[in-house]
Amino acid sequence: MPAGFPDFRLGSVLATSFTATLTERQGDAVERIPTPQRLIDWLAVNGLAVASCSTVQLELARELRESIHAAATAAAIREALPASAVRVINDCSIQGRAAAVLTPEGNRRWRLSLASRVEDALGVIAADAISIIAGERDGKLALCASPTCRAAFFDTSQSRTRKWCDMNTCGNRQKKARFNASHRKSARD
Ligand SMILES: [Zn+2]
Repeated sequence: MPAGFPDFRLGSVLATSFTATLTERQGDAVERIPTPQRLIDWLAVNGLAVASCSTVQLELARELRESIHAAATAAAIREALPASAVRVINDCSIQGRAAAVLTPEGNRRWRLSLASRVEDALGVIAADAISIIAGERDGKLALCASPTCRAAFFDTSQSRTRKWCDMNTCGNRQKKARFNASHRKSARD
């Protein structure tokens, strides 16, 4: 991992791992793919290795990311999906030329087109977002309880009562804040 760049927040759901490349949207936002190379790195970690990435492609990736975030947020709070977000997601899905292939071990891999274009990788991410927002998968879209985060995440817990996008960051911070508050209270008492 190159020094000086924020690390990635990786989850088990491709589309929301992608939206988590921008965190603390309601606070001091942290951009985790600030350069084309960092998008290349993120895609490689997620089984979508591309040959190269231009600044225009990085812009497109961020546009898709924010469109997924907007649509997933609307779905989580049961509002109408923003038309512009739906259009971007669909355009990315249509323009991708990746194919799912089955490995001899029985795993799914994505094969991008010969040029291994960023657009192919974005198509895979857009299709993943569509399957979640359309409610096809076992789980529920929800918003992180942290007021500085409010990230849309996919809750696959049995009770569907997960509160935070990420237990190790938002969940932990909340727990610490509560601990400090009760600590201060008991010190006063
Ligand atoms: Zn969060």
